[in-house]
Amino acid sequence: MEVVRGIPVSSGIVIGRVFRLGKAEQRVPHTNITADGVETELERVHEAFDRAIVDLEGLRDRTKVQLGAEPAKIFEFHVGLLRDPSLRHPIEARIREELIVAEWAVADQFKAVADQFASLGAEVFAQKSADILDLDRRVLDHLMGESTSRLARLDEPVIIVAHELTPSQTAGMNRSQILGFATDLGGRTSHVSIVARAVDIPAVVGCQHVSQRVENGDQIIIDGDSGTVLVRPTEEILEEYRTRQSAVSDYRASLRKSVGLKAETSDGVEVSLLGNIEFPDEIPAVLENGGGGVGLYRTEFLYLTSGHEPTEEDHFLAYRTAIEHLEGRPLVIRTQDLGADKYTQEQAEEPERNPFLGCRSIRYSLQNLDGFKTQLRAILRAATAGPVKVMFPLVSTVMEIRQAKMLLADVAEELDEEGIERGHEVEVGMMVEVPSAALMARAFSSEVSFFSIGTNDLIQYTLAVDRGNERVANLYTGASPAVIQLIKNVIRAARRRDVDVSLCGEVAGEPLYTMLLLGLGLRTLSLVPNQIPVIKAIVRSVTIEHCERVARKVGTFDSERQVLNYLRDELRKIDPGSPGGWTAD
Ligand code: PEP
Ligand code: MG
Repeated sequence: MEVVRGIPVSSGIVIGRVFRLGKAEQRVPHTNITADGVETELERVHEAFDRAIVDLEGLRDRTKVQLGAEPAKIFEFHVGLLRDPSLRHPIEARIREELIVAEWAVADQFKAVADQFASLGAEVFAQKSADILDLDRRVLDHLMGESTSRLARLDEPVIIVAHELTPSQTAGMNRSQILGFATDLGGRTSHVSIVARAVDIPAVVGCQHVSQRVENGDQIIIDGDSGTVLVRPTEEILEEYRTRQSAVSDYRASLRKSVGLKAETSDGVEVSLLGNIEFPDEIPAVLENGGGGVGLYRTEFLYLTSGHEPTEEDHFLAYRTAIEHLEGRPLVIRTQDLGADKYTQEQAEEPERNPFLGCRSIRYSLQNLDGFKTQLRAILRAATAGPVKVMFPLVSTVMEIRQAKMLLADVAEELDEEGIERGHEVEVGMMVEVPSAALMARAFSSEVSFFSIGTNDLIQYTLAVDRGNERVANLYTGASPAVIQLIKNVIRAARRRDVDVSLCGEVAGEPLYTMLLLGLGLRTLSLVPNQIPVIKAIVRSVTIEHCERVARKVGTFDSERQVLNYLRDELRKIDPGSPGGWTAD
């Protein structure tokens, strides 16, 4: 048995078989096959070459139209190389004779050819060597990328182990067949972690090299509470985890009994607990868990699942479905939060060097007006069916929010001119998730009717810690006095102007922070649906007076360690002994 430690990102224990998801950037598998497997591997090689040729011909044709015949020749040359039998035959021969997987044979052969060119020395040959390596990537992408589509067609439940998962891979999975995740890379608020929590799949990320320590079909345990991954467990360990698994599910079942109860402190202050969703079909889970509506609908997942720019009708149907599920309860639709790790980098010809500080979120929308206006039209049209608020992500300057509001007004006017029905009472709000917005909350408060504090990004930008980087995950914490200071500032500014304020980052679903957030003055939290019962249990067992005392005390600390220790102690006092571990951070 091997034990691998990572970052626990989605709670629960799961036991199952490994499905290893390959990706071209990953290590090429050096695996042998049996003689029976030769034909399959040869077929895989042919298919990967054929697909790479189709890609290149498409590129050649587009280049010809856009830049002319001369620059398009490079792709002609690449197609020629891939069609050349002298490249393919040695690959096929090695598979037959050495019984090795297609990826290994392809990678080795391309490298050998590239090395031959490189050894000739002249500049022109160095370029040819680079061309060969580029082709190697293309063919390998098809060979290894096929596991992504195999993933969508899974017909038995598995645990995914991968080097890294992109938000679109996660969003595109056949969720009913995925028991859990373990990845080498990632942090607590990477979007893949958020999706795992949203769909209630136990997950551990940032496990260093777990993907290299497993083979397809290995038995594996994922403990999403402690961040432990156990590969090929012994019978004794399996038994222990089965017992723990049933204790966790009993505890969760007991919490669900409180679904009909109000989220009210023991001194009678009501707290609104809403759900964060990525897909409208998560709304039944919000309601089953006792959520009072949706405080954050991450609409960019519409892009991630479809893989193309959604039409106005795609948007409209998704929003109307959400409204129908909610039956009059509130719905906050956040406009497309694309960029950074979501969608655009995967599609971009030239990925940004620093995408989290690049053209993401509202910046991306303001530079891609057609897609943005299409979405705004659909939101306004859907708003005739129920209460809808619109929220803009990652606003960092007052000009951005003004521009976004102006576009919304333009779109409303266009719909009126076209005689298309639209909602007339759509409140406009913004995410406060950049320090500049938190610091200038007072100025922003005269522009919007609500703020939603996005701690996932606020922590990353305040502390200069990439939210998805496992190497600095120990520095990423909501217990940072600087972050708490900014949250306080936002709440104060909102109160002055009577602007509603809520918090929708992942800390809203972390028991450790509930008392602090209530004590700071928040009365609306939007969180991952399956955490609503736990947070409600805490709300119901505290008084606001106690929470305010906690917040005041936290305000006296100058290190996150002190804050964490204190919050843990306070939570322990009211923790009735949950097996899932309320005190995890
Ligand atoms: C946040 O940043 O806190 C947030 C809720 O948005 P996302 O996690 O989608 O970036
Ligand atoms: Mg954010």
